Amino acid sequence: MVGDCRGCIAALDVGTTTVRCHILNSSAQTIGTAHKKVTLHYPHPGWVEMDPDEIFADILQVIKTAVENANITFTQIESLGISTQRATFITWKKDTGETLHNFVTWKDLRAREYLKVLNNSWRMAFFRYAASLMYWLTGIKKFGMASKLKIMSSHVSGRFLWVLENMQAVRDALESDNLMFGTFDTWLIYKLTGSRRHVTDISNASATGFYDPFDLNWGTVAKLLKIPIQCLPKVVENDFDFGKVDGTFFGTPIQIACVMADQSSSMFGSCCFADNDLKITLGTGAFLNVNTAGKIHPSLNGMYPLIGWQQGQELMYMCEVPCPDAGSLIEWLHNADLVPDASITSQLAASVEDNGGVFFIPAFSGLGPPHNNETAGTGFIGIKPTTKKEHMVRAVLESIAYRTVLCYELLKKERNSKYHSIHIDGGVSNSNFICQLIADLSGLPIIRLESSEISVLGVAYLSGLKCGFWESKEDLMNLKKLHDVFKPTKDKNIIEMYNKNLKSWMAAVKRFYSWY
Ligand code: ADP
Repeated sequence: MVGDCRGCIAALDVGTTTVRCHILNSSAQTIGTAHKKVTLHYPHPGWVEMDPDEIFADILQVIKTAVENANITFTQIESLGISTQRATFITWKKDTGETLHNFVTWKDLRAREYLKVLNNSWRMAFFRYAASLMYWLTGIKKFGMASKLKIMSSHVSGRFLWVLENMQAVRDALESDNLMFGTFDTWLIYKLTGSRRHVTDISNASATGFYDPFDLNWGTVAKLLKIPIQCLPKVVENDFDFGKVDGTFFGTPIQIACVMADQSSSMFGSCCFADNDLKITLGTGAFLNVNTAGKIHPSLNGMYPLIGWQQGQELMYMCEVPCPDAGSLIEWLHNADLVPDASITSQLAASVEDNGGVFFIPAFSGLGPPHNNETAGTGFIGIKPTTKKEHMVRAVLESIAYRTVLCYELLKKERNSKYHSIHIDGGVSNSNFICQLIADLSGLPIIRLESSEISVLGVAYLSGLKCGFWESKEDLMNLKKLHDVFKPTKDKNIIEMYNKNLKSWMAAVKRFYSWY
């Protein structure tokens, strides 16, 4: 550890279920925290929105409460690091800052029908042809590679094109050159800096689906999809000078030291700095990410090549296999009154010997890779007169582990490398039952750190490197606090039971395809 900084770092993470803030000292100890549940709005079936004024007020309140709980003043905050959910966007007017609609979140399915048409259109055929050419020119000599490229609802592109086509106010603003577009990070920086900055960090840009990770610009992909480039923010590195939080918010200006997309931040917080380091975040959704170091991994099957982070000149790529639902299923168990709270789910699942032949298909927002199916339905199958609530809870938890393990299988198929362990984080990683099942099915040790809020830690680490709390990534590795390691079982009966269950579950999933 170096430097004579005596201040603290505020690290903010805006998730889809919660907004949280940690105050850390220069020994990376959390000295105060606060969190608030995010309110999601569902104005029509399939639409999932957030109200910008509501969430901005919540963010300010959470930061203030964390500072109060840490028993310090805002003048002691050296810098603020921000991690945000990705692929959630909003548009607003350049002249007044007035937002033109609510946030359209990454879980929103409004563009599903629009995308069916778009994916079968000449525009997409041309896009695939151009993408094939681009792969070829960048040295990835697999000409057919892009032929399967499809725009999914989780990508910003489809939802943004839907907004441009369906919202008159947005079209008017575009026509009068008065439109600004931003993912969550962009809008938050714009608000916090008193409308002074219109930027996005490179990790959030790469998760939009129209940032070109090869050429590192909006150019080619955005143009091919007819995204209006003039309203997009400038793309900057993660430790860019993002400016200061306007003094009116906390009584004193605070430097924004870094901004990162949540999955990048959790890679950074887990210290997954080396090639082939793996982590799974089980938050509202589940995301398996692998560090691919300096190389892009383009995929045929929906594994997304993303930019992990850019720190100064250093650029780290990662690859991602997403599952849209994980914590959202636990939330549903609670909302449906099947459990009083999330923390009891592991205990209930373990209280029965097995799932009693009950399987759950988790597709609130469709099924991600390897299914890539947005028309699947959600539901239980195999319920009998003897089925208890515990079997149903167990089936839901098992489905989260099965989805995650399929993601890992896909990764192994596409990237034939040696993987030694998987770091796990996010709210659902508090479930011992799920962690152990992932270990048993993947055959890899699952490493859980002391805190499950690793996205917060990632931006705290990057902020701390910037303001001199720590000097290097080696310093950060030394700060890492292991909590549990879930070792794969050696019991052949258990392995056999789960492998059999996994096969039955995969057969059940196919029956739920094409529901919508
Ligand atoms: P996000 O970052 O997307 O906001 P979080 O990482 O905060 O999500 O995870 C929130 C989810 O974690 C919630 O759905 C909550 O129900 C779930 N969760 C929290 N604790 C547990 C637990 N002990 N077992 C299972 N799920 C849990």
